[in-house]
Amino acid sequence: MHCPFCQHEDTRVIDSRLADDGATVRRRRECPSCGERFNTFETAELKLPAIVKSDDRRETFDERKLRVSFQRALQKRPVASDDVDTSVHTIINDLRRSGEREVASRQVGELVMRELKKLDQVGYVRFASVYRRFEDVHAFREEIEKLERDLPELQGLQLPLLGEAGKRGEKS
Ligand SMILES: [Zn+2]
Repeated sequence: MHCPFCQHEDTRVIDSRLADDGATVRRRRECPSCGERFNTFETAELKLPAIVKSDDRRETFDERKLRVSFQRALQKRPVASDDVDTSVHTIINDLRRSGEREVASRQVGELVMRELKKLDQVGYVRFASVYRRFEDVHAFREEIEKLERDLPELQGLQLPLLGEAGKRGEKS
């Protein structure tokens, strides 16, 4: 595979491991010319479902948007970008394997929350506070209280929750 940084014709695999319960092979590669390292992911080629927004519009699945959700939630958090990559690909694989032709954006949001919960509790709470809608606030408040009991670092964290949650406008 060519180097995406300097276009050198060959790159070396320096590590190879299974991710996502064996559905993905993640390879760490290094360019012998410029020394840059990057990851590649190998998965079975299955079609991704279209995303159905809350107003019923259909959108093509956009990996970049998914990544932005993680980046926002994990801003300034000590989470390795490799772990974020793995989470993003886990979600993509879940969507592929669902075999559905369409998936509600809300379901994608639930998958993001599931992954964030594994990566970083603070990121999880940030995402959930913006993402969950008004009708869930009660359940969400309970979730926060539960997390606060387990995680003293959450105390005093500025949560956008209570101002934002009443607005419609779902993040996908
Ligand atoms: Zn290179």
